[in-house]
Amino acid sequence: MFDWEKQQWMLEAWETLLLGNEVHLEPTEVAARLLYLVGGRDSVFNREISMSSLPDPTVLPTLLQHARGSLSEKRTLHLSFLLSTLYEHGIPMLEFVAVNVPQSFLDSLRKEAVRKVDELSCQAPWCNGFQLRGTLVKTGTTVKRRKSGEVLLYYLACLKCGCEYALDEQGELKERTYFISGHKLLRQLSPQILGLKDMARQTGMTEDKIRRCLAYFCTRQGTGTFAEPSSIISSKLVRRFLDEVRAGSKLKSNGNMSSS
Ligand SMILES: [Zn+2]
Repeated sequence: MFDWEKQQWMLEAWETLLLGNEVHLEPTEVAARLLYLVGGRDSVFNREISMSSLPDPTVLPTLLQHARGSLSEKRTLHLSFLLSTLYEHGIPMLEFVAVNVPQSFLDSLRKEAVRKVDELSCQAPWCNGFQLRGTLVKTGTTVKRRKSGEVLLYYLACLKCGCEYALDEQGELKERTYFISGHKLLRQLSPQILGLKDMARQTGMTEDKIRRCLAYFCTRQGTGTFAEPSSIISSKLVRRFLDEVRAGSKLKSNGNMSSS
């Protein structure tokens, strides 16, 4: 069916852009106006409202970077995206061209970026930066959709303990490494007496992850955990391991090393 209403809207939009007074907006202004209008003209930016009002929430980080002028590489804000988003919200192009975005909204866009890094803290109980604000540093902003469907937008890491994090669509801090979750699960067990298979069965973690968790805690004295470095490692085995690493072998293919 031919959508007359949509065609009429598009026609008016093009007339506004082509026949009206010359419209020249920078990408920062276009993104800020769009965020302001789809957010319902609130005086300050609200991440959750913007997220739910965009056809695809994963575009929000890029749109925010456009609005803040903080894109690390040049990207185009496509006219087709602007047209379809405005149409979805029933916002005429005339309104978009004429709107005045209040300074409070522009300020809140910038403040939100600063808030993220400054207000978040490392969640690892053994870390010196545990729950101390400002202990995390930004490592990236690429949007990734996990197999589970979860969308991660903003990446951070703790320089004190090496744990990596990301923010999800709700702005919640998620651990990307699995040391904190592994710590919670493994501390209830006795790794000194249990084998890897038993631990995997009891925690639901893979043997690979358990091995990495134990190695992580073995290298961190004073974490008050199950894996204080107590065993003596054969120097022959360490040498062989280093040789394999230098040769570029994969970690998994070295699984048989413990048996020698
Ligand atoms: Zn930390």
